[in-house]
Amino acid sequence: MRIDIITVSPELIQSPFEYSILKRAQDKELVDIHFHNLRDFSLNKYGKIDDYQFGGGAGMVLMMEPIDKCLTKLIKERAYDEIIYMTPDAKTLDQSLANKLSSIENMIILTGHYKGVDQRVRDKFITKEVSIGDYVLSGGELAAAVLCDAVIRLIPGVLGDETSALTDSFQDNLLAPPVYTRPAEYDGLKVPEVLLSGNFPKIDEWRHEEALKRTKQIRPDLLNKDKNESQ
Ligand code: SAM
Repeated sequence: MRIDIITVSPELIQSPFEYSILKRAQDKELVDIHFHNLRDFSLNKYGKIDDYQFGGGAGMVLMMEPIDKCLTKLIKERAYDEIIYMTPDAKTLDQSLANKLSSIENMIILTGHYKGVDQRVRDKFITKEVSIGDYVLSGGELAAAVLCDAVIRLIPGVLGDETSALTDSFQDNLLAPPVYTRPAEYDGLKVPEVLLSGNFPKIDEWRHEEALKRTKQIRPDLLNKDKNESQ
């Protein structure tokens, strides 16, 4: 998979890709990340990329021309399956969308700043808009990093067995059951007996019951959700 990320602050988004699973995915050549600084496509030598909004009001808006130049250059070079804009006024990212995006070949992620991007960019280029939650960040870089992490860890070969994504929360519309490691008893706190029994059908049953209990308590809405439902 190739991901092109367009940003006004590349330094804000690079470090999550330099460590751990995202770094290993690149080392294994399962994902190829490219950052594009919007200022390289600016209107003048001072790096102008934003302007006041028509109609007045606080906050600058990212102009269409630099984004158009950057996107047009990329689109000429290869076909993209999705051109995503990170924005709070969109449907919220969920596991189902992450699953779908993990099987595509090429995507562009546009991150906004200030008041966001000129609406005409969204109208002309964007194929999907994604929010990471009902709150407003200063820029789309952290949101794009969250989206990339959620997607990249699902690409076959990225995770080893020890971190299999299939048993994580949301894959079955359930929260994950509790997990324990050694020692079996710490300061009087014991690991549930069943996990030490070696009886794997029983362990699976216990995990399923615990996942169900936790989901009913914390996120009952998930139980009514269609498995394939997403944006
Ligand atoms: N004026 C916008 C609004 O009220 O919807 C908010 C703009 S925000 C200050 C600047 C940029 O941060 C956005 O263009 C977007 O790229 C990013 N951003 C902020 N919150 C986000 C969220 N919850 N999910 C995804 N991106 C977000």
